[in-house]
Amino acid sequence: MTHRILVVEDNELNRELLCDWLAAESYQVVSATSLAQAFTAIQEMPPDAVLLDVQLGDQDGLSIAWWIRKHATLSHIPVIAVTAHAMVTEQERIFAAGCNACVSKPVDFKVLTKHLQQWLAVPEAPDHTG
Ligand code: MN
Repeated sequence: MTHRILVVEDNELNRELLCDWLAAESYQVVSATSLAQAFTAIQEMPPDAVLLDVQLGDQDGLSIAWWIRKHATLSHIPVIAVTAHAMVTEQERIFAAGCNACVSKPVDFKVLTKHLQQWLAVPEAPDHTG
């Protein structure tokens, strides 16, 4: 089964880079450039994982992680944060928001592959067994 990944990233070049790479790795890719777009995309069709840019312009990308974790039907979705700031305080903020993993920019695709494989292997909530 092909996994659907939602890429949330406001920077066009970074977004295209991530989307192209995921598509080349045979993932299905959906993208969003803002909090509003991300919320809509998740509600329309919950993805199998979210790649989340922590800084969406002047918006805090982590509000998406908080929101996902608060919803019973979504809280199983792995969220991998992407950040330009590798400081410990930023990582604490990222994990406090419920992200499963954190990769720093520029994204090392080997590292990202490892996280995706790890978190997509976790059994999903039994919400579409019928
Ligand atoms: Mn950004």
